Amino acid sequence: MNKLSRTSGFLLALVLAGTITAQSQTTKITAIKAGRLIDPETGTAAGNQVILVEGEKIKAVGPDLAIPAGATIIDLAKLTVLPGLVDAHTHMALTYKEQPENNYYYLTYVMESSPLRAIEAASNGIQLLNSGFTVIRDVGNNAMYADTALRQALEQGWLPGPTVIPSGPIIGSTGGQLWPTPEMYKEHNIVFPEYIDADSPAEIVKAIRQNMLFGARTIKLCIDCKPWGYSVDDIRLAISEAAKGDCKVEGHVQTPDGAQRAIDAGIYIIAHGNALTPEHHRQMAEKGIFLAGTDTPFTKYRGSEAAFKVTVAKLRDAWEKKVPLTFSTDFDYWNERMKDDKTGEWLTRGEMTIAFLDTWKAANIPARDVLHAITINGYKAADIIKERGPIKPGFFADLIAVSGDPLTDIDALRSVQFVMKNGMVFKKDGVMTPEKFFHPGPVRTPNGRWTR
Ligand SMILES: [Zn+2]
Repeated sequence: MNKLSRTSGFLLALVLAGTITAQSQTTKITAIKAGRLIDPETGTAAGNQVILVEGEKIKAVGPDLAIPAGATIIDLAKLTVLPGLVDAHTHMALTYKEQPENNYYYLTYVMESSPLRAIEAASNGIQLLNSGFTVIRDVGNNAMYADTALRQALEQGWLPGPTVIPSGPIIGSTGGQLWPTPEMYKEHNIVFPEYIDADSPAEIVKAIRQNMLFGARTIKLCIDCKPWGYSVDDIRLAISEAAKGDCKVEGHVQTPDGAQRAIDAGIYIIAHGNALTPEHHRQMAEKGIFLAGTDTPFTKYRGSEAAFKVTVAKLRDAWEKKVPLTFSTDFDYWNERMKDDKTGEWLTRGEMTIAFLDTWKAANIPARDVLHAITINGYKAADIIKERGPIKPGFFADLIAVSGDPLTDIDALRSVQFVMKNGMVFKKDGVMTPEKFFHPGPVRTPNGRWTR
């Protein structure tokens, strides 16, 4: 045996060992006994169901399933089981503060490094998973690709967290969302990490390719952040280029004209509901364009009563017009008032995210429709409904359990007792049990998409 074939033999043995490990992991069966099982697609619940989970995926669901010998049994007979929750618009790696930034997020970009921001994102992911969020769309303002790094780390099995659908930097016409000084713009080494300036068709194509190359799973455009924002043709070009990498396009919209251009171009998701009129809602419903309204409630740590009234009225109108609504927060801030009134403890990122239910309640949207928005429409907007979401055979086992009935009382979602992600238990009896998620290396291979 020469040196080369010895090396090959050694590599082959390693590959085989890896295969055997993977097989023994996938044959592990868990049987979940669910007191009630909600199907948010139909807004119905079935009693006394068994969910068999094999490895990372759901194997079978039904009332009278035989539980294989040796299966791990999880008794949720007193709880209601449902798919994990989705925040369809958030910012995991941006947390601007009153001190020292005076809430001006441009300063966060300058003062916090990409590695620090990636670690913040990892912490936010754990907090969100603890509140039942198993999927989040992370749409920009993530330093130098902290978002795609987090997605890779999660997929490889380094740590627990929701499935992350990252956009990479937001693509906008010159200046992005900010008004950089000539010094910043011409040197292009301070403002650049947070926005990619792309004006011409060639620049738009290149920016989208760059984000997909570095691991984006969705594309985010600033439609109208500047008076020289994107035309209908620009947006159509972005949609067709993004499709080459299986990415859908979200448009940040802040003017009625921008909203109309995004709708005319057939964009997949419109972010922020404030500039939308009832006529826009009508057209979005007709075209099936998702709304990530980022519907901020009025709390002691955020918002104003006047802004809240507008937000509630717009959300209500969008619901009445049957726009495909998603639950979305735009969460990216922190201040000293984010404490629980009763305990004085800090609220977690997950608790403050689910608190956005206040807006949906104020808009009098029925609980089953809110549940549909925070699950089914979220999975569709994230474009992963074919692999995650429904609690059906073949889908990833991402599911949560709560006391009470969220089909009639949406506040039941505020106290998640059980979380399973990729078939592994992350939370049980209201307590995090994340140890199985931590590994000393990349133990899971990415799920087969064309990039890393
Ligand atoms: Zn945002």
